[in-house]
Amino acid sequence: MAIRQLPVLDLTPRPPSTPRRAVSAPGSLGEFATDDLAMPAFHVWTLGCQMNQSDSEEMAGALLAAGCSEAPSMEAADLIVINSCAIRETAEAKIIGRQGQLARLKAANPALRVVLTGCGVRVENRDRLARRYPAVDLFLRPDEEPELVARLGLASPTAPGLLAPPRPAPAPFAGTLPSVDIPPAADALPAVRAGAVEEGRVARRSAIQAWLPIIYGCDKTCTYCIVPFSRGPERSRPFDDVLEEARALAAAGYREVTLLGQNVNSYGHDLPPEPRFAHVSRSREIGRQIDLEGRPDIAELLRAIDGIRTADGLPAVPRLRFITSHPWDLGDRLISAMAECPSVCEHLHLPVQSGSDVVLRRMGRQYSVASYLDLVDRLRAAVPGIALSTDVIVGFCGETDEQFRETLALLERVRFDTVFAAAFSPRPGTPAARLPDDVPPGEKRRRLNELLALQERIGWERNRAWVGRETEVLVDAAERGRSHDHGDEGASHAGPLAGPGPGEARLGGRNRENRLVHLVGSPDLVGRLVRVRVVHAGPYSLAGTLLDTADAPRAAGASGAADAPRAAVASGAADAPRSAGASGAADAPRAAVASGAAGAPRSAGAADAGDTTDPAGAATRQPWRCRSGRRS
Ligand code: SF4
Repeated sequence: MAIRQLPVLDLTPRPPSTPRRAVSAPGSLGEFATDDLAMPAFHVWTLGCQMNQSDSEEMAGALLAAGCSEAPSMEAADLIVINSCAIRETAEAKIIGRQGQLARLKAANPALRVVLTGCGVRVENRDRLARRYPAVDLFLRPDEEPELVARLGLASPTAPGLLAPPRPAPAPFAGTLPSVDIPPAADALPAVRAGAVEEGRVARRSAIQAWLPIIYGCDKTCTYCIVPFSRGPERSRPFDDVLEEARALAAAGYREVTLLGQNVNSYGHDLPPEPRFAHVSRSREIGRQIDLEGRPDIAELLRAIDGIRTADGLPAVPRLRFITSHPWDLGDRLISAMAECPSVCEHLHLPVQSGSDVVLRRMGRQYSVASYLDLVDRLRAAVPGIALSTDVIVGFCGETDEQFRETLALLERVRFDTVFAAAFSPRPGTPAARLPDDVPPGEKRRRLNELLALQERIGWERNRAWVGRETEVLVDAAERGRSHDHGDEGASHAGPLAGPGPGEARLGGRNRENRLVHLVGSPDLVGRLVRVRVVHAGPYSLAGTLLDTADAPRAAGASGAADAPRAAVASGAADAPRSAGASGAADAPRAAVASGAAGAPRSAGAADAGDTTDPAGAATRQPWRCRSGRRS
């Protein structure tokens, strides 16, 4: 059987070593059908933050809709899509380190083609990219990702997928573009997303938790960050499009929805004012002033999604989160919405980056330590018990030991629940790359270790306060036993929990405060909200005993419910420390990626928990799923 030719990539047919799915054209295109047509099998490798994960869901959905199938591994793929992260050096090094393997795969399979996209691809670094990533055939900037299928030559009229006619061209972008070269394609992202959702072309990995992008790009000027250069200016999705997607997710039985953006708190400032939002009156309390009157904001969005209710008046999406928040735009309207919307979880990720005003100024963060602490106090007053997590960069250009100690003092003062810390590494093309990187690597490591040790103590103390309390857990994983799981390591994160009995499994999930909680129970509880009594606290997770289920099983027939991942296996388990040099990244199934793209050096030394589709983890992956039910 011949493989469908990819004109751009000049894909050469190869003898089929693995069975390929034959493709049948829909009736309306029957006259164009080619009997022996087969489409490439693809594999997506995603690094980095939730926005990348969400983008990968869209790309996978587009490929599935075009008739491709998902390959179980890189080795079995005809097409490898690498969704890169450029937030720190190690993420790029990881892809560079795979070039040899990719070259070997291409030698064994001349039909194989490799696409690199994500934040690592920018306008100005195309020439350098070809040298750094010799095994890559096609580079796509993040805003070009919607063109993936077309650029691969899979979007022709004879392509046997479910591609719909193109949506009308979006209105010209009316915002202010920065000086970087942002092509017009970037302006189409909100409309492209709406089309993908409408046509069931978003392939979600989970049937329990969903990403919902609300704003693309970033207008901030943090000097260490590449995101404004790779993802362009802020572009909000239309309010009704977001709401419509939230409604669809609720109808499909999703228990948790996370609104995504590099800076979600900026949502809406670039949308036109509308009479229905005339009551929205706000201004920035810190930073550059812009006209925000009469436009929707994230508070309005949270209230609208919270207002989607079931017949018995409960929030149809029981858990609502949003990430990442920049302190600039976190005003009283948002804090009130968090306090008043029952579905909004009692957790906020609020990157602080440094506890020194001097360093914050050099970082271009536009807030002071005092204004950050004021925000923390207001949040805690409005939302009692709220859990706070943050990002910290140590060893930024010119950081003195005294300034580093100010960061330690901030951690002592705020007592964050979780801190994601990393040593500064300059990113080419950012303003900070022109500053002297003058903290020696050994000193960066020392500061990082000291900070992580401090946070481990604080985090453990905060976790101990949970022992004896009841908490609601959304069970999202049945943990697969490991060959060494009978030893101390396996037992440590489960604390004094008895091992699973007949018909039971070790389960994992998050409470509303985003703490990882382990328990034992029926695997059927995956996807359910349960009540748990906490009986053990480790530095990075809790363990508890099941009290009861807090909600009914998801409605039969709800899309996605029937095939909810019963074993979305957190085989890496839970309670390993995030110390520098730790390779397990164990306590991190979601939290470690919860730092978002925003300034987002993850927990130092942790093995990139955001690397969610690394081939090494292929055994734990779930197939992509579209609304149409297509799956590989
Ligand atoms: S750190 Fe966050 S807020 Fe700052 S430029 Fe990067 S994405 Fe924007």
